[in-house]
Amino acid sequence: ASLYRIDCWGAPYFTANSSGNISVRPHGSDTLPHQDIDLLEVVKNATDPKPSGGLGLQFPLIVRFPDVLKNRLECLQSAFDSAVKSQGYGSHYQGVYPVKCNQDRFIVEDIVNFGSSFRFGLEAGSKPEILLAMSCLCKGNPDAFLVCNGFKDSEYVSLALLGRKLAFNTVIVLEQEHELDLVIDLSQKMNVRPVIGLRAKLRTKQTNHYGSNSGENGKFGLTSSQIVRVVTKLRESGMLDCLQLLHFHIGSMIPSTSLLSDGVSEAALIYCELVRLGAHMRVIDVGGGLGIDYDGSKSGQADQSVTYTLEEYAEAVVSSIRYVCDRRSVKHPVICSESGRATVSHHSVLIFEAASSVKPTAHQPSAAVDIQFLLEGEEDLYAAVMRGDQEKSLLYVEQLKQRCVEGFKDGVLSIEQLGSIDGLCEWVLKAIGGSDAVQTYNINLSIFTSTPDHWGTVGQLFPIVPIHRLDEKPGARGILSDLTCDSDGKIVKFIGGESSLPLHEIDSYGGGGRYLLGIFLGGAYEESMGGVHNLFGGPSVVRVSQSDGPHSFVVTRAVPGQSSSDVLRAVQHEPELMIQTLKHRAEEVMHTKGGGQEDEDENEYKNVAACLDRSFHNMPYLATEEG
Ligand code: PLP
Repeated sequence: ASLYRIDCWGAPYFTANSSGNISVRPHGSDTLPHQDIDLLEVVKNATDPKPSGGLGLQFPLIVRFPDVLKNRLECLQSAFDSAVKSQGYGSHYQGVYPVKCNQDRFIVEDIVNFGSSFRFGLEAGSKPEILLAMSCLCKGNPDAFLVCNGFKDSEYVSLALLGRKLAFNTVIVLEQEHELDLVIDLSQKMNVRPVIGLRAKLRTKQTNHYGSNSGENGKFGLTSSQIVRVVTKLRESGMLDCLQLLHFHIGSMIPSTSLLSDGVSEAALIYCELVRLGAHMRVIDVGGGLGIDYDGSKSGQADQSVTYTLEEYAEAVVSSIRYVCDRRSVKHPVICSESGRATVSHHSVLIFEAASSVKPTAHQPSAAVDIQFLLEGEEDLYAAVMRGDQEKSLLYVEQLKQRCVEGFKDGVLSIEQLGSIDGLCEWVLKAIGGSDAVQTYNINLSIFTSTPDHWGTVGQLFPIVPIHRLDEKPGARGILSDLTCDSDGKIVKFIGGESSLPLHEIDSYGGGGRYLLGIFLGGAYEESMGGVHNLFGGPSVVRVSQSDGPHSFVVTRAVPGQSSSDVLRAVQHEPELMIQTLKHRAEEVMHTKGGGQEDEDENEYKNVAACLDRSFHNMPYLATEEG
């Protein structure tokens, strides 16, 4: 298990147990009387066919642990509470969850519910997001913030104002100067007193990928001259008291607390200036950026790791604000953060099968194919192999292969002869230990659907680990190749900068049993950003809680992944009509044969119809072979 550094990136939630499986401790390292959950047991329960007592879900499968979510929220809150207390800070922390990180209804509802006692709120960045946020906050704490970010039109602003009418604590954050005109105009028309925030474009710049929108040339936020104009216009409209929040976001995965402190201090200065100019400032919203340690190295290496803990993050935010405000004799503001990645990443694990592995074939040539004449004159190769000279053997093998490929292109060699030579060369390479040890594992997954941040420009590396057999030494190294017909659909880079992953040989496992891998820490962004390339849709999902009952867990919700019908519908096809059309065609083709075979035709038609029904109803991924 140490090969995969599970205890570095997985603590306190994931570890390997004595059966060699991943075990989950959803409440963190709490000493609750619960047993740890064996992830393999959960997966079996979810995917075993219904007649054998399982839930019959198909792979890939997302396993969510709401208890992990609860623990993350509580840890975030208590890190800030401790920092506030230890530094004698004069106000409190009140965070929001940016729903864009994962808009799944049950995740958002859980966050509202778990965070209700400490007024935890939501952040929205578009019209549907504000709609879902309002609807979920109906059951939340009335003081929880609903921070409305993103570019806005009059409909968006009206929705945010409507939120105030409905007694939600909405704050309209101006991302662009002209949004202010909409807010002034619509709030008067709708007779609502808005709470306004503004997003400042800071000069502090993050240099990793996620910081590309920070700094003076960033995509979002107001420059200092725009801020001054906003204040003037609000004053002229008699609405300066409505300006209450200052927001900034210097990018996700802030690597160090020194950069964080620079950004927070710069923002705190702007906050103090707004107070001086007469705004009724109350809240400083430090945006997202609280990072997680994907590789467990604590190195702060760009996009992969951060050098601080939750507690150190909170300490840095609180102390920077306190220092600046104290020097300016400004009352300490409420501190809000929009931590998405750090809140939801840990709580879900994506499980998928490695369906087969492609090894270079290595076998002695068959006597039926004459290649003897090709090996004449290969004394150098024989001699190198006999001496165990790996370097020379590799060279001669390459030369032999090259000669044979040319012979094939000239039409002198058949495909059988070429295949035999390739097999023989692999056999020789294996014998001298020079065979390429990296195998390709075909995975029943779409990288584009399930880990878009990996193939996209971010190149995010997630911990990928077999969820069983961790007590067995992996006999191979592999790269992962997905189901899509796309050469980018592969994973060839892994945490720690490795170009292959230690993996078990599938053939040696119980005569072809499943080999299951998990992608961890992918709960934020991956589901919300994935596409349906090749029409591979979203995975099945189970929600799992710890239990005191006879099993260590209970499945509280099980949802099949998107079916072929679902993904077809997403691209404007009409599955019901398609089934009808295809069945109609089957009827026409099968019933026109005639010749007294009506019964047979009818049977064949029924088989075809059933096959069509199944194909539309099932998920697009490879079906697991039973047994
Ligand atoms: N707030 C804003 C405005 C963002 O743009 C983002 C993400 O990019 C976040 C919050 C969430 O950031 P993170 O996931 O790093 O916490």
